Amino acid sequence: MKIRNQLLLLFLVLFGVLLLAFSIFIYLSSAQTRKDEYYKQLKREAITKANLLFDAKVAPSVLQLIYKNSANSLFEEEVAVYDTSFNLLYHDAVQIDKVKETRKMIDQIVQQKEITFDQGSLQVVGLLYIHHGKNYVLTAAANDEYGIKRLGELKNTLILSFIIIICFTVIAGYYFAGRALKPVAEIIDNVKEITATRLDMRVPVKSEKDEIGELAITFNQMLDRLENSFNAQKSFVNNISHELRTPLATVVGELQLALIKDRSITEYKEVIRLSLHDAKRLVKLSNGLLDLAKANFDQREIRMKELRVDELLMDARETVIKTMDGFNVDVLFEQEIENDDNISVMGNEYLLKVAFINLMENACKFSPDHLCTVTITYLHDKVILAFKDKGIGIKPQDLPHIFSEFYRGTNKDFTWGNGIGLSLTDKIISMHGGSITVASTENKGSTFSITLLHV
Ligand code: ADP
Repeated sequence: MKIRNQLLLLFLVLFGVLLLAFSIFIYLSSAQTRKDEYYKQLKREAITKANLLFDAKVAPSVLQLIYKNSANSLFEEEVAVYDTSFNLLYHDAVQIDKVKETRKMIDQIVQQKEITFDQGSLQVVGLLYIHHGKNYVLTAAANDEYGIKRLGELKNTLILSFIIIICFTVIAGYYFAGRALKPVAEIIDNVKEITATRLDMRVPVKSEKDEIGELAITFNQMLDRLENSFNAQKSFVNNISHELRTPLATVVGELQLALIKDRSITEYKEVIRLSLHDAKRLVKLSNGLLDLAKANFDQREIRMKELRVDELLMDARETVIKTMDGFNVDVLFEQEIENDDNISVMGNEYLLKVAFINLMENACKFSPDHLCTVTITYLHDKVILAFKDKGIGIKPQDLPHIFSEFYRGTNKDFTWGNGIGLSLTDKIISMHGGSITVASTENKGSTFSITLLHV
């Protein structure tokens, strides 16, 4: 069911129940008031007749004559006067006697002084009347036709008003619920138009203060993030294809050139050597991309365990020295290690090793002596690793960008690369709750410092 209809139904049920309760209350209290008032009227009528009979000494026959000839003030009223021994002293109209008094009833009136009850459509009141110290019992009965008719009219008016008000509520409720939800409908229309190719569109924010405004703002923020990541993906794919195309095109070119005519073994060897170099670049690139994808994973999916950083550094060192001719890495402890905890961190072995290899390789490849010195320091809660080189350094204008994906500094012509290494390293370190900083002076060298927290 649509929210508009749900709201309407809820409002209708709530309002309907309240209105019904209110109408029932009015009807019941009016009915009770009518009844009480009528009993009072009957009592007054009975006392008036008894006063005429006993005080004014009007003869019963005269009273009956007046009764017969006057339009009764109360409809079908009938007053009777008894003494306490159940002797009838006066009756308005014995022939139409409706209330059949009994000895028991007379005794009850004497005892309780006043009783009231209904008999069919009649309301009856019985009361004790004292005159000159003598007790008499008066009964009066009548039908409040006028009051009951008015009560019936009230009932009809209430039912009619209930129906009219409910109809009005349905119409007004439907209109106002629609008006209140109009911004939502507008958002829905807008959202329908937003597709992957139109991610720059935004939902209009009418008012920033209400919930719908908040919804629109939140939705726009989500679109901002989506657009950013969509653009990042696009440029990522562009960069990858560019990085892949260049070595592939070189390999294809070299091989085609070699096939054009017969060549000497030395020439063939040179072509193979160049192609192998490009193939290695491609392998490096694809490994880097694979690692980048791993580092982009949800952190919860990456298995962490307690690791000794010095062991990881030695592993990384070995890989660098083995795979890159002429590269050298020195690992130095700045303090004595008292126990494993001093240099233990919680981390993913593979990813941390990738990060260390990247920093070692960069240090070696950007320095003519191809030497990287790694120092290990520890404090009570962290381990600090510094990857130093005495190489060409980084230009100050490059420093803010070197951790961005595919960014290569102005010194890139000095050596090979693809711009993935540092962004990947940065991701890995922050995934481990650590931090990475760089200090570099042109033509003097660079130091990349990593801080990792203890287990
Ligand atoms: P690349 O594949 O180019 O090495 P990285 O992401 O590893 O990509 O590094 C990004 C850029 O940072 C490099 O292109 C280079 O300009 C600069 N850089 C990184 N490490 C060093 C370093 N040790 N010495 C000089 N420049 C460095």
